[in-house]
Amino acid sequence: MSGSRLGRILVSEAELNARVGELGRAIARDYAGESPILVGVLQGAFLFMADLIRAIPIDLTTDFIGVSSYASGGKPSGQVRLVSDLSMPIEGRQVLIVEDIVDTGLTLSYLKRNLEARHPKRIQTCVLVDKIERRQVEIELDYVGFTIPNVFVVGYGFDYGGLYRNLPYIAELEAA
Ligand code: 5GP
Repeated sequence: MSGSRLGRILVSEAELNARVGELGRAIARDYAGESPILVGVLQGAFLFMADLIRAIPIDLTTDFIGVSSYASGGKPSGQVRLVSDLSMPIEGRQVLIVEDIVDTGLTLSYLKRNLEARHPKRIQTCVLVDKIERRQVEIELDYVGFTIPNVFVVGYGFDYGGLYRNLPYIAELEAA
C-alpha cells in the first residue's frame, strides 16, 4: 500500500471514548472481586489498554505480550511468533487478553493456546475491533468494541509501516 493516504474516519474520538467507557464498566461489573490480570498485546493494543484500564475501577494488574505474524506475499501465513513474553506467571489467575483487532483470528487463537498452557484459572478476550468477514478460525470473543468491514485501518494504536498509531481516531487507509 505504498503511496497510501488517510481515508474516512471509521470511529471518532468521541465514539472511542464512549465505547471504551462502556467496555470498562462491563468488565468491572463482571470481574468485581476477582483481581484479574489484563494482558495487552503489543504493539497495537497499548493505547486501548491505557484507556481501558482507567475505565475499570476495580483491583487489577497488567502485563504485556508481544507477537509477530509472519506474512508471505502480503498475506497472513498463519504462523505466529512470540517476540516478548509476560513478566509474571499467570497460573491460577483470571486473565483478560486485550487485543487491538481480530482479523483472520490466527494471532488471538495462537495466544489463547499459548496462555492456556500456563494453567490460568480462566482466559477471556477483549477486542477493540472485530473484522468478522475475514475470520479463518473460529474464536470466541467476550468483549468487542466495534465490528468493522474488511478495510485496512490506522490510528488509535493501529499502524501502517510504524506510522499513524498516534491518531486519536480510527481511519481507513486508502491506496492513493
Ligand atoms: P489476525 O489476522 O491474526 O486476526 O490479525 C493479525 C494482526 O494483523 C493484528 O493483530 C493486527 O496487528 C494486524 N491487522 C489486521 N487488520 C489490520 C488493520 O486493518 N490495520 C492494521 N494496522 N493492522 C491490522
